[in-house]
This record gives sequence, structure tokens and C-alpha cells, in this order.
Amino acid sequence: MDLEDKLLMMPGPVPVAPRILRAMSKPMINHRSPAFSQIYDDCINNLKSIFSTDDDIFILSGSGTAAMEAAIGCTIEKDDTIIAVENGKFGERFKDIASRYGKVAHVEYDWGSSVDIDQITEKLEQGAKAIAMVHNETSTGILNPAKEVGKLAKEYGALFIMDGVTSIGGDDVFIDDWNVDIAVVGSQKCIGAPPGLSMISVSEKAFDVMENVKSSPYYLDLKAYKKSADKELTQTPYTPALPLFYGLQEALNIIMEESMELRIKRHQLFSRAVREAMNALGIEMFPTLNDHSNYSNTVSAMKVPDGINGNDIKKDMLNEGIIIAGGQSHLSGKIFRIGNMGNVNSNNVLSTIQTLEMVLKNRKQINTLGDGVQAASDVLNTVK
Ligand code: PLP
Repeated sequence: MDLEDKLLMMPGPVPVAPRILRAMSKPMINHRSPAFSQIYDDCINNLKSIFSTDDDIFILSGSGTAAMEAAIGCTIEKDDTIIAVENGKFGERFKDIASRYGKVAHVEYDWGSSVDIDQITEKLEQGAKAIAMVHNETSTGILNPAKEVGKLAKEYGALFIMDGVTSIGGDDVFIDDWNVDIAVVGSQKCIGAPPGLSMISVSEKAFDVMENVKSSPYYLDLKAYKKSADKELTQTPYTPALPLFYGLQEALNIIMEESMELRIKRHQLFSRAVREAMNALGIEMFPTLNDHSNYSNTVSAMKVPDGINGNDIKKDMLNEGIIIAGGQSHLSGKIFRIGNMGNVNSNNVLSTIQTLEMVLKNRKQINTLGDGVQAASDVLNTVK
């Protein structure tokens, strides 16, 4: 089967709408021209409403990790302490980035477990310049308590750096109300654009901190991004990835046409449909959660049933034309993940579940077909 026929149901990259692909094929323009400023400004206006913030937002040519590194590199120096919360792969990445720039106070949980606020409070009491946490931990399908951590960070005078790579654009995120000083998102997730860009919001408090940091990275220096954005004609400090900007602009138009409210509801509904289908098929969710509202609304992680390897499920799904994800690091082969980010529709969700049922039946994991699809359809029908 041709690669073009495959359905991407992994947690990014996601299917990209044809109108976005068409937008990307436009001719190149001068990136120091009013035409580019207009695209940039238009994107920023829409991003502010998607982030729910009045803070400055910058668009970096670089994937989500570039923005994570910009956030930490511009605020943390070698004698500074930063709390890094880890309950999955991307929390681990924040810790690894942080350890390159400063001293890390590590708050660690088993991957797949909930974050315990008391442990974070303890670390804040010992003093820290910043706290970094992933909002939607893509590797395990858990939503972490960003609002609560933002409140604590404010109380203790620490910066709150939040990875919203797989929540912003698909789930409730309130950057200003949650006291998030720096938030990052990637283009290839809930925003529904191709990979390659990241967007980052920066509060005034974070800029004040950055002013006193002497060893900022060069390419990712957010002060340089601000200086260029504040020019009469908005610019980026270095040549932007123009086709990706064209694509992002169109992806944001699609979001605005749908409205964030409906988009979030759609993501919530689809992830619930996936979870109910798994329940009907006797497949356990991977996260062990105190509160079920902490399941991710954009990606679901499931335990691989006994007697089968997760990589085989992934391979069989791929043979049927659907791309899902496996587990990362030590979770490889043990869990599998289904994303419902961006502009996927209910047919995409249903056909993923139907195909999974076929795969599981062929592997003698289930005896009958249809239970998962029925459970998912029941959820999807609740809005009809
Ligand atoms: N943070 C989270 C929560 C992610 O899911 C990802 C990618 O999957 C990243 C960071 C890294 O983003 P990128 O691969 O775009 O650098």
C-alpha cells in the first residue's frame, strides 16, 4: 500500500488537511517584507486565543524540543535550581535539557503514575528559580495538574515552564489563568500542521528573568525573537521555514473556523470513544490514575494484552493501513498508543478501532468483532 493511503493515528505527526498542503506549495517570499509580517501577525493573533494568553508568542523554526530548550536555556544558568517533574518520556526530556543548563531538583514518579502535588511543594520550599512540567504526557496518556502547579509556582515566586506540546490546540489550556510563564507547543500535534515549527509564549516575569541571564543559547535566544517581533514589520531573527509558516497559517484558520470550544469537545469525545472501546475489548488503560479525569484527551495509552507484543499490534495495524504508536524507552512492546489529535474525524476513530479488532482477532486475543466499534459509536452518538 502506498504511504499516501495510510491513516496517521499516532500522537503526532497527524494527518494534514489538503488545504494546508496546498497553502504550503505557494511561492517563496522575502521574509523581510510586509507579506511575511502579515502572515506572522495573523498566526500570532490566532495563537493568542488558542493559548488563552496576552503574553508574547514567538514561532520558532524547530520542533517542540527546540522550544523546550529555548524556555530553559534562556532562564536557567549553572547555579540556578530548576524543578523537573517526570512521569514519562517528555518529563525526562525536560530534566535532561535542564541538567545541561542548571541544577535539577528532580521529582520523579513511575511512568504512567499521577503527579503528587505535595512532593512538588516540598521541592519548592527548598527554593527553586523555575519548575518545568509536561501538561499532557504523550508517552503515557496522562494529563498532569498544570493549574495546580501554576498556582504553587506563583506562590513560591518560581517561573512555571509548561510543555503543552500535545495539549495546546486540542484541550483546555489557560496560560494566563494558570500562571504559566512559558508554554510551548509543536505544530504537528493538535494544531494539525506539518512538523517543524514550535510556538512559545513568554510572560513579562519570564522576560525579566531572561534579562539577567548571561549564557543564553544563540539561535534559541528568545530575547532576539522579541526584538525582531517588536519591529515595525514583524520578523524572525533568522530565516523562517516559510512553507511551514504558510501551512501553520492555514492550520490556524481551520482551528478558528471550527472554534476552540468545539475542537476541545471533539478531542475529549474521541479520546473517550477510544477508552470505552478498549474497555469493551477487555484492554486495560496503561495509566494508573487517582482521578479518571486525568486521562489525556489527545492520546490514549493501553497495556498490551498478555501473549502478544505491542510491536506486533503496531505492525499488523500498519499492514492494514493505520499507523499507531508503540511505547517509548522501557515501555517499548508493553504499551500501544492511539492519538486523536488535530483534524481527525469520527470515521478515522471508528476505522482505527475496527482495524484493531481485526488485528486482535487474528492474533486470537478476542473472539468476536464489533464490541469496540459499538462502544465507540455509542460515545460518538451522544452528541448527535
Ligand atoms: N513534549 C511532548 C509532550 C511531546 O509529545 C513531544 C513529541 O512527541 C515533544 C515534547 C517533543 O516534540 P518534538 O518531537 O516536536 O521535538
